[in-house]
Amino acid sequence: MTIQMKIERARAVFHRHGERLRGDSRVERLMREIESHWKSSWQVMEETGIVDSCRHCEEDDGGSCCGRGIENKYGETLLLLNLLWECDPPDQRRHPDACLFLGDSGCSLKIRDVLCVNYLCLPVQKRLSREELRRVQETVGRELDTVFLLQETVKGLLKSLAEPEDP
Ligand code: SF4
Ligand code: SF4
Repeated sequence: MTIQMKIERARAVFHRHGERLRGDSRVERLMREIESHWKSSWQVMEETGIVDSCRHCEEDDGGSCCGRGIENKYGETLLLLNLLWECDPPDQRRHPDACLFLGDSGCSLKIRDVLCVNYLCLPVQKRLSREELRRVQETVGRELDTVFLLQETVKGLLKSLAEPEDP
């Protein structure tokens, strides 16, 4: 299935069930937890200099690790989770050699694949001390664990919504 097809399917599911999903107390709680994890992840990335390194890389070296084709790693559920945050994935590629989701100021998605969240290029890894690397991995790991829980919760809810009601 192409990424465009997955995006369309995620939009259709969101259109049909989005409000019910958002209204579920477990989904609501996990969304709040993820937002709090984003703050922690951003903080640790800033404190360890990763934010500056990536900004410099993007602005001055034209280098980005968001290559064309990475968008194909994304499945329907992750795209649906983005829609829960009103984050509608772009349909058009802005940069010919880059990932479909790369916008003018970085990634346009809120919920990203583990591959994107975990990735640090070798030069950045080398600049970090062992302790800094451990802090980054632990913080980002908590974010990813909660995203995984949200994915599973949403999948379970969608399954129950699709099941025929008891006579
Ligand atoms: S991880 Fe490395 S390659 Fe990717 S944007 Fe940051 S500095 Fe650039
Ligand atoms: S971080 Fe965003 S733009 Fe970069 S590869 Fe991942 S999904 Fe694409």
